[in-house]
Amino acid sequence: MIKKEHIIIIILLIIISAFSLAIISLNCADNNEDTNDTYREVLVNDSNETSGTVEVIRNIGNPNGKRIAYVVGVHPLENETHRTLVKLLPNMTNLNYCYDIYIINVTEDIGYYGDGLNNYENPGRQNGQNLAQKYVYPEIVNGNYELAIDVHSNIGAYEYKTFVFSPVKEGKSVDYANQIAQNCENITYYAPPSTTSGPYLTIPLNENGIPAFYFEEYSFAPQDVKDEHMLELINAVDNLNF
Ligand SMILES: [Zn+2]
Repeated sequence: MIKKEHIIIIILLIIISAFSLAIISLNCADNNEDTNDTYREVLVNDSNETSGTVEVIRNIGNPNGKRIAYVVGVHPLENETHRTLVKLLPNMTNLNYCYDIYIINVTEDIGYYGDGLNNYENPGRQNGQNLAQKYVYPEIVNGNYELAIDVHSNIGAYEYKTFVFSPVKEGKSVDYANQIAQNCENITYYAPPSTTSGPYLTIPLNENGIPAFYFEEYSFAPQDVKDEHMLELINAVDNLNF
């Protein structure tokens, strides 16, 4: 009888130990995942104070990789292209670098295509530029990023419809954007004569140590074409050498 009780106790001890180990290892796995997980953070959400919200999706891709920032929403009418990036990038696997996507969502005076206002008069564009300057610029300039990419679209008034360019004449941002164009079948390097948003984000970033360039898509391209171009951009950026 004594032996039988001993055996039962030993079996119980083994079962308890096995459960304890399983629980400990599950907790460890959870903790590791937490530090590497992609997460969404609200930077500004006060409709009384601002003309929109600003959020960031952090830690996409390789959490140990070099850091790259994307920005969408500076110009609210260009949101189909912005949504294309937000849909595709967080679902990519085997990325080399670690990405944060800053998302500006203008809620006041978004405007509409064909409103007759030029780029400098459109209050929705100005609202987005102001949010970029006040809330996104400080995050990126202090964020230890190798590169920032500001995503826009255009109505086809330029010589090219899908292109990258730096708002400054020389430096790393020009080199990186040129490499993207060389490695993408459907993306050209083309610098328009001027930009309305440059002074609010990409120019000061370049002037303060963070290379920043623009990606421009054609606003009225079909969604499957927007997807194809965005994947070309994402992959080319992920294969840049820093
Ligand atoms: Zn734009």
